Amino acid sequence: MTVENIQGEYITFTDGKYEVPDHPLVGALAGDGIGPDIWSATRMVLDAAVAKAYAGQRKICWQPLAAGEAAFKETGSYLPEATLETIEKLKIAIKGPLSTPTGGGIRSLNVALRHHFDLFACIRPVRYYQGVPNPMKRPGDLDVVIFRENTEDVYAGLEWAAGSDEAEELGAYLRDKLQAKVRPGSALGIKPMSPEGSKRLIRSAIQYALDNGRKMVTMVHKGNIMKFTEGAFCQWGYDMAKAEFSNQIISEADLWDKYQGECPAGKIVLNDRIADAMFQQLLLRPSEYDVLATPNLNGDYLSDACAAQVGGLGIAPGANVGNGIAIFEATHGTAPKYAGLDKVNPGSLILSGKMMLDFMGWNEAGTLVEKALQAAILGRKVTYDLARQMEGGEEVSCSSFGKLIVAAME
Ligand code: NAD
Repeated sequence: MTVENIQGEYITFTDGKYEVPDHPLVGALAGDGIGPDIWSATRMVLDAAVAKAYAGQRKICWQPLAAGEAAFKETGSYLPEATLETIEKLKIAIKGPLSTPTGGGIRSLNVALRHHFDLFACIRPVRYYQGVPNPMKRPGDLDVVIFRENTEDVYAGLEWAAGSDEAEELGAYLRDKLQAKVRPGSALGIKPMSPEGSKRLIRSAIQYALDNGRKMVTMVHKGNIMKFTEGAFCQWGYDMAKAEFSNQIISEADLWDKYQGECPAGKIVLNDRIADAMFQQLLLRPSEYDVLATPNLNGDYLSDACAAQVGGLGIAPGANVGNGIAIFEATHGTAPKYAGLDKVNPGSLILSGKMMLDFMGWNEAGTLVEKALQAAILGRKVTYDLARQMEGGEEVSCSSFGKLIVAAME
């Protein structure tokens, strides 16, 4: 059978484990704006890596899925039901950026996808690639993986405009029943954080650390001020770890008192830091941190700050992972002014593809993608965003950069 004739098979998810066949069907949402440009470069790179790593034995059977403006033109819906149903069946998908429709209705398609599939963990690895222009003296000292809670906190969408009936009614309740000092006429928002939502996020971070030979999980919270939400997030994390990972977790105190600062093999340190101090720590002592587990808002801020630190905002990858569904995505937006110009950096989506390959257990191909991207950057023929800041950098198009990455696999 030639590769072109191969019929794809579904990825399955049973008892918490994905089974990935050699020719898996994987969803591909090219996205809006620059999405189609970066997706076509990404697809070329991922296909080449898989073909090379497995000598043609494995191949991804991409399933193009409609979402965003193109879908709206075709079907009248930005996020058609058929797309959602297909993602549910496929289990794993990769997506380019989607523009947020203006006007009423859907708040953001990305948020809608996260909520629809309960993709509770936003995972963003941040590390330095040699040659990427950056503002630090030793950018390579930062190598962290951020697990950001994706469904709760002040991002839950529970807020009411100042002067609205809802805000007035809620304000009156808070004043009358709970003696809370809330000025009449205030806008109000609610910050829900549950034991279940917090524990499952911290559990994923710990499991990831154990599976990937990482040595520490740090819970980043603002529990000194928000005791019952952020403080509880941290306490629920410790409680869950004690109940579920007692043989694999050690405390920060034990690390020094019992193990002279060397985490024993097969174990990880679970500790916590106050969010504002953590921003300083990641600038001043980045090499001391590893996997971070954060509530929604802290994680949003921290992941962009970390990406900027390694010069990698334009090449920062991400994944949104739930229980049995995972969607890998470029973390930047649709950059409409560059749409269709074959100009922008496909690195963010390519590295999201690397994360996807690793997630599928196809680590050989994932490693090949990462090494080839690194080699291409060192070759200094890069897209405009890197070329303009790089000494001796030469600007190439998005598709040419993709081809240079493929060439670097040889
Ligand atoms: P943006 O990330 O699209 O673009 C801001 C600027 O960053 C661009 O003008 C460009 O200079 C640069 N840039 C972005 N991606 C780049 C790349 N791959 N290579 C080189 N340069 C790049 O942010 P925005 O302008 O605030 O948002 C535009 C649209 O994207 C909005 O509709 C927004 O809702 C949407 N958005 C989507 C996502 C997502 O799908 N995950 C994320 C953020 C924004």
